[in-house]
Amino acid sequence: AFIKLKEAVTLDTENVDAYVRLGGILRRAKKPEQALQVHRDLTFRHNLTAEQKQEILTALYHDFTDLKDDASAIRAANEILTINPNDRFALTALLRTQEKAGEWKEASVIRRKLDKLDGVDSGRILALYKVFEGEELVAQGDPHRGRLFFKEAIHLDKMCLAAYLAIGDSYFNEKRLEDAIGYWSKVITLRPDMGHLVFERLKKGFFEVGRYGDYAETLTGLLQADPAHLTARLELAYFMEKKGEMGAARDHYSAALDHHPDSMLARLGLYRMNWAAGKREAADAVFKQIMKMAVKREAGNFRCKTCSLDAETMIWRCPRCRAIDSFEPVKS
Ligand SMILES: [Zn+2]
Repeated sequence: AFIKLKEAVTLDTENVDAYVRLGGILRRAKKPEQALQVHRDLTFRHNLTAEQKQEILTALYHDFTDLKDDASAIRAANEILTINPNDRFALTALLRTQEKAGEWKEASVIRRKLDKLDGVDSGRILALYKVFEGEELVAQGDPHRGRLFFKEAIHLDKMCLAAYLAIGDSYFNEKRLEDAIGYWSKVITLRPDMGHLVFERLKKGFFEVGRYGDYAETLTGLLQADPAHLTARLELAYFMEKKGEMGAARDHYSAALDHHPDSMLARLGLYRMNWAAGKREAADAVFKQIMKMAVKREAGNFRCKTCSLDAETMIWRCPRCRAIDSFEPVKS
């Protein structure tokens, strides 16, 4: 009798696994209702092992997700966690849902747990959660509390540009211009290559406090550290142009082209400066270059269908994969 019973249990066990798989097949065949039915029936069985329960709940999570029943999907994930609090699948699934719903506090708790399990540190993302929370407070008209969150974000991630921008913006809205300028400037200090994120802001800020010259100085500082900094160079050139210092503007546009010959904006600037200085022939020459660049850009490139090699001109036999007649025009 014992052997019979053991056989039956074994049979039953295999049965459960088979049904979980069957449901999975139905789901993948785009029949999530039927999949849900199969998996749900399994939950009424007795003597399920913890492992089986977990498997069934995981399947249910997928069914509910496909049926766009997020609330039930979350319930399934939470039930998995009552069986195994460290289940990565359930934790990850919950995290995804909470991120989608913008539930940043809950998401933080789970992400910290996952970090601990995986031995990683997603401080960058935890910091962004804080920024999002703070932004909600600012939108609700509470910039003071919002800023506390932004500062917590910086505490979690010293490089959290979103936080510096948000603090600067909120100070600017409260007319605390020097404070705004201070925080925006930190973006440049931390990530010179991302400086253009704050150019417009700083320009406005410096203008309102009557320190317009400091804007040019900020850009000059960037260029001293990195003469190839394209956005700073173009911004400074344009700044000089607006001030009427056409010679300086022209020099900056030329310098930009020395480092970035493909910069359309630099070439357009140089064209304008030549034109303004009455150098018709030089302007004409630059204009022809611009036309050439524009035509190339509009026409796009050619790409091998077989190996995805890009080419600037039409090729009839691919130099990489040797395919014949495999190139097609692609828009850039
Ligand atoms: Zn090829």
